[in-house]
Amino acid sequence: MRFSAFFFDGATRAFHHRPNFTKLVVILAASGGGLVAYADSKSDHAIESSEVAPKKKVVVLGTGWAGTTFLKNLDSSLYDVQVVSPRNYFAFTPLLPSVTCGTVEPRSIVEPIRKIIKKKGGEIKFWEAECFKIDPTNKKVHCRSNIGTNLDGNGEFLLDYDYLVISIGARANTFNTPGVVEHCHFLKEIEDAQKIRRSVMNCFERASLPNLDEEERKRILHFVIVGGGPTGVEFAAELHDFVSEDLRKLYPTVRDLVKISVIEAGEHILTMFDRRVTKFAVEKFQREGIEVKTGFKVVEVSDNNITMTNASTGKMSVPYGMAVWSTGIGTRPVIMDFMKQIDQVNRRVLATDEWLRVSECDGVYALGDCATIGQRKVMEDISSIFKVADKNHSGTLTVKEIQDVLDDICIRYPQVELYLKSKQMSDIVDLIKDSRGDVQKESVELDIEEFKKALANVDSQVKNLPATAQVAAQQGNYLAQCFNKMKDADENPEGPLRMRESGRHRFRPFRYRHFGQFAPLGGEQTAAQLPGDWISIGHSSQWLWYSVYASKQVSWRTRALVISDWMRRFIFGRDSSCI
Ligand code: FAD
Ligand code: MG
Repeated sequence: MRFSAFFFDGATRAFHHRPNFTKLVVILAASGGGLVAYADSKSDHAIESSEVAPKKKVVVLGTGWAGTTFLKNLDSSLYDVQVVSPRNYFAFTPLLPSVTCGTVEPRSIVEPIRKIIKKKGGEIKFWEAECFKIDPTNKKVHCRSNIGTNLDGNGEFLLDYDYLVISIGARANTFNTPGVVEHCHFLKEIEDAQKIRRSVMNCFERASLPNLDEEERKRILHFVIVGGGPTGVEFAAELHDFVSEDLRKLYPTVRDLVKISVIEAGEHILTMFDRRVTKFAVEKFQREGIEVKTGFKVVEVSDNNITMTNASTGKMSVPYGMAVWSTGIGTRPVIMDFMKQIDQVNRRVLATDEWLRVSECDGVYALGDCATIGQRKVMEDISSIFKVADKNHSGTLTVKEIQDVLDDICIRYPQVELYLKSKQMSDIVDLIKDSRGDVQKESVELDIEEFKKALANVDSQVKNLPATAQVAAQQGNYLAQCFNKMKDADENPEGPLRMRESGRHRFRPFRYRHFGQFAPLGGEQTAAQLPGDWISIGHSSQWLWYSVYASKQVSWRTRALVISDWMRRFIFGRDSSCI
């Protein structure tokens, strides 16, 4: 009996798309008597039940940090998963600046997405295409392939979803500065890094040609980086190393004409780092002859000149040979269009709640650089929090009543914990004492106004998360875990108490853990800023950087390639061929 049922089930699965074959089995079964008839009806039932509950369709947009980490951690047997991305690989962006000068080869930092999918064993489908429209009303995404065409000849197709995971990252932001798109390089994608590498070499070859005057050679060898963030600074440092360690020997006639400038509109470079790091970087760059111009805003770029303004010097133009624009990120057009549809107008980035859900539409999640979490403020919910906490409906809160819901409050509103930490307070009683004065701990009872007063400043700790790979990857992992637990979550909710409704949230909200950040400054020196504002700058941090970046590689293959690239560079130097 078991065998028949198994066979039939297996056969229908294997020949799912061949109705004739199924019919054949049924005819044979009929001639075989009651035993087989039983198997027949049972498998029909199996088909029916599998039709009743088909797997939910998950469409993932993007194969960057957020999308790939989501896919890697998702239990893909639970869903019908389709992935759409215009590039069929994952790129390890933190090593992109190293690709610009050939310290690391481009293929060493990419992993084909199909390889990642295959390792999971699940049936994830990948479509190399770009999503150009999201239709949340009909739960569809419109996609366009840029390779080949379909019957309509335009390469377009539609995908239905039950859950949509938007992780399409961001684009470079030019602030609509004239001439930037036409004349500057960006550093966001592998192709950008490859173009920069070629362009640097072209500048050296062009500057070495005969019949050029010195001014022209100097112009060609003036490398300008617009934007003093981590990417711009790291590229400047890489380029300086490339020139001083490799190119100086190969281009002796022009080597003294090279100039590297970093132009930053703000007052400092590396603003997201501690001042000690900024100071070290500026001093190091000064010693090495890298010019750092802070307080200069680039207003126009032409083919040979960059024009900028400064409060004291006014407008000025500098001739340049190659420029890299790295001033931050902007929203992709498809997200802008989506935001318009869901009434998120006048916003820069797509907003989600703390569970990464796009609030206005069912089943849509957004993570990584294309979205930002709108942390709910305590003050918006203060009356509801008071009501939930006031279990005996006395209209006042005792310390015990507050402490009973404190864990839920801290999970739902992480700013409370941050605020307590920032004020070096151990718990909420200190906060109450702070607002009420020298009252006895246990006898404190707060009415709503006093409760509001005690928590009045906690929302000052609400901060937007940075647009980093660290955040994107943690979000991808978090969302995958939520999806893996989705079935049980209604019965066993694990989130905090709902403040405005009854019951609990299904999941805990996303919580970011910061593991520190690096700023490679060239010459085998790196600044490391670890949690607790622990700063380390120098050669030892460079080794920490090497080990962290080797360990974070997405596969053993890329890990081996990256490490061998580093060794190759140590032994033979970087390759300066213009290919
Ligand atoms: P991305 O990684 O950019 O991925 C977006 C994906 O969406 C891509 O696969 C893209 O092809 C795809 N896509 C684009 N448009 C569409 C569309 N219309 N439809 C479907 N798919 C689409 N962060 C750190 O934490 N540490 C670092 O050291 C660091 N260094 C960096 C160095 C450089 C040079 C750069 C550029 C970034 C660096 N970052 C670093 C930032 C980090 O790379 C980003 O924060 C991270 O990539 C964001 O992940 P994401 O998944 O949101 O977007
Ligand atoms: Mg009470």
